[in-house]
Amino acid sequence: MTPVAQARVDLGALRHNLARARAAAPGARVMAIIKADAYGHGMLRVARALHDADAFGVARLEEALSLREAGIAQSIVLLEGVLDAAQLNAAAHQDLSLVLHHAAQVELIEHAAESLPPVKIWLKLDSGMHRLGFAPTEIPRIVQRLKHAKKIIAPLRFMTHLANADERNDATTLRQMEVFQAALTGIEGERSIANSAGILGWPQTHADWVRPGIMLYGVSPFLNDSAEAHGLRSVMTLSSRLIALRQNKKGDAIGYGGSYVCPRDMLIGVVAIGYGDGYPRHAATGTPVLVNGRRVTLVGRVSMDMITVDLSAQPQAKVGDPVILWGEGLAAEEVAHCASTIPYELLCGVARRVTFSES
Ligand SMILES: *Cc1c(COP(=O)(O)O)cnc(C)c1O
Repeated sequence: MTPVAQARVDLGALRHNLARARAAAPGARVMAIIKADAYGHGMLRVARALHDADAFGVARLEEALSLREAGIAQSIVLLEGVLDAAQLNAAAHQDLSLVLHHAAQVELIEHAAESLPPVKIWLKLDSGMHRLGFAPTEIPRIVQRLKHAKKIIAPLRFMTHLANADERNDATTLRQMEVFQAALTGIEGERSIANSAGILGWPQTHADWVRPGIMLYGVSPFLNDSAEAHGLRSVMTLSSRLIALRQNKKGDAIGYGGSYVCPRDMLIGVVAIGYGDGYPRHAATGTPVLVNGRRVTLVGRVSMDMITVDLSAQPQAKVGDPVILWGEGLAAEEVAHCASTIPYELLCGVARRVTFSES
């Protein structure tokens, strides 16, 4: 018995995309970003498939601890660092590398217990995103302080995050780079700037370490272009099946709110996928869906468990036929666009009700 709604994760494609990141940034080491359950793909399966990444990056302590518990021994970087002494203690005992982005975290390290194992540190600079990180003017003083902190494994490493790298004509990226480099003049230590958009679009940002996220999952980080253009292969295919077909009459209103009214007599298919599975509720009429490998369009509102599609072009379709919502043959980027969101959100949002498998 095969589950109806499924997400298949193509581990070969995942490894291919890691190789693409390496090839795009030759000479840089790769911190594979697997936060948020590896963008919804399953953190552990992704970490195992990408065992030759130079490090893994996660947002939170809980994510890192579950990787360690599962036996992942590679270097793991906590991108948001730690919040209190208990977290610092747990992180140090599990040999996690910490990002320090706030004065409170510096104080935690300075006041760490004698018994704490020393930790590796990435110091985060705010080069213009204005979210996390130390201001450039604070850097010399912070670096000086950290030199005297006993619980830090030298040398320090330095990172910053790009705010607008997905827009290739936006001057912000180069400005951020200049701010970062100027702030670190005369300071030794490895550097990391680039996310996926930096890796693929801004070679000046490659530095010593790159931090690919979305590109590993086979999605272009740029607005208005395709993953194939960057040699990336889609990793997750979300699929389901037709559970009903009905011949609706001209004037019939479909689904909640009756927002779609059939402009003519129409064959309508009902697909077992909805916002309860993570399919975006705001996907508009016209959003592409593949039925039997061929494009049809969504019509009417997305329900919790179902969507309706226009099968006018497939009169021979029948109950049980396969449907792809995104992935193989249909880019998540395109679906995201039709739902006024970004592919990151679609991938992260696939619900636990969906059955995952890998190939
Ligand atoms: C999420 C994240 C990344 C990866 O970004 P993508 O756009 O998915 O490549 C890189 N660095 C940091 C600090 C992040 O939080």
